[in-house]
Amino acid sequence: MALSGIEIFKLLPKTNCKKCGHPTCLAFAMKLAQRQESVDLCPDISEDSRRILGDAAAPPVRPTALGFGSGAVKMGEETVLFRHEKKFVNPCALAVEVKDTLPEDEALRIVNDVLTSGIDRIGQRLEIDAIVVTNASDDPAVFEGLVRAVAAKAPDIPLILSTGDPAAAEAALKIVADKKPLLYGADDSNAELMAKLAVAYDVVLGVRAKGPEALSALTEKIRALGVEDMVIDPGPAGAAEILRDNTLIRRAAVKKNFKPLGYPVITFAQRDDQMLETLIASLCIAKYSSIVVLSGAERWRNLALFTLRQNIYTDPQAPMQVEQKIYNIGEPSEDAPLIVTTNFSLTYFIVSGEVENSRVASRIAIMDCEGMSVLTAWAAGKFTAPRIARFIEESGVGDNLKNRELIIPGYVAILSGALEEKLPGWKITVGPREANALPAFLKTLNR
Ligand code: SF4
Repeated sequence: MALSGIEIFKLLPKTNCKKCGHPTCLAFAMKLAQRQESVDLCPDISEDSRRILGDAAAPPVRPTALGFGSGAVKMGEETVLFRHEKKFVNPCALAVEVKDTLPEDEALRIVNDVLTSGIDRIGQRLEIDAIVVTNASDDPAVFEGLVRAVAAKAPDIPLILSTGDPAAAEAALKIVADKKPLLYGADDSNAELMAKLAVAYDVVLGVRAKGPEALSALTEKIRALGVEDMVIDPGPAGAAEILRDNTLIRRAAVKKNFKPLGYPVITFAQRDDQMLETLIASLCIAKYSSIVVLSGAERWRNLALFTLRQNIYTDPQAPMQVEQKIYNIGEPSEDAPLIVTTNFSLTYFIVSGEVENSRVASRIAIMDCEGMSVLTAWAAGKFTAPRIARFIEESGVGDNLKNRELIIPGYVAILSGALEEKLPGWKITVGPREANALPAFLKTLNR
């Protein structure tokens, strides 16, 4: 259970020696309670207190990684049930399954779909994160062959090796253990052998059991066998069971600090009906799965799931924003229009998209307003005439223009008079209220 600042304070030496960089022990305790400092900064704390605070500071869902190097996918570290309480930490990984019963060219076509699944949206790269290779043939040699082929085709993508057969698992691990795959398929029948492999090859172990209760007993057993890093699968059948089991697991981990269920959850969402599969995957993204396995990488579904995931895993307390600077759209000449707006990501991408659609080469002056949209920034005093004038002057953009004209958003037309006073020599033009009117507006400018 997370400790309060006062409970932490009681465990500190209370000498206010400042060696931790904070003026008092109480100030340091408050930082520890917010998980903003490490207990190691206090050199005088007793070993007992250090152990208690270390346990309390550990995230309730164990941090785990899938894959290796810069392409590794982080999982776990979640601390809340609801995004508005703080934020969700590590976006749910999307994985696509290839079965070793498929003809190899068909399996590699799916792998290629995964490799080409990436899109850029609001400044982020979104893509399928991992490939699950499933031993559906029950033949270790066939499984090994497909693992080898997938690893050769996609050497950098994280792999999940799905098999309940320790012999097949070991054959595959011998090929790709250096890529730190997830070995999925430990259950009550093979726990000892699979745990032995996970320890020997130093990989994360995927553990499955029917329901959270059986699962917690199994993770305890496997932990006693020396496996620290696990991903768990309560094997739910339908949407209602997924919601029930995933909520129960997250609640037990976060609210009760119940370690046997404090692991990232993997959910297999594949269904014969693709729309149903997409809806199930959406539920898993929203409700606590750390890995969702899909049957394919169809673009229409990727777009829906990527967008949902991106929206859920942004920090609600930190609006998405782009860098303050002058952005060129096309190759603007000294006659090109200059548009000013705020640095809220969505504002930037919508405005720049509409300017691109207009095919009128332009400059967009994006001003740092802490990621607020135009009206919010204006109401908060961040997008005011003096601040806009200072930004435009300091940017030096006027040096590139023949006629100094600044187009402001229609929603802040009220600023035009004050801006003309603050920017002598500039003409202030009020643009449209909505970005979708920009193409027609830009075409009416007579240049
Ligand atoms: Fe207190 Fe430790 Fe910080 Fe000193 S170093 S002020 S004892 S918390």
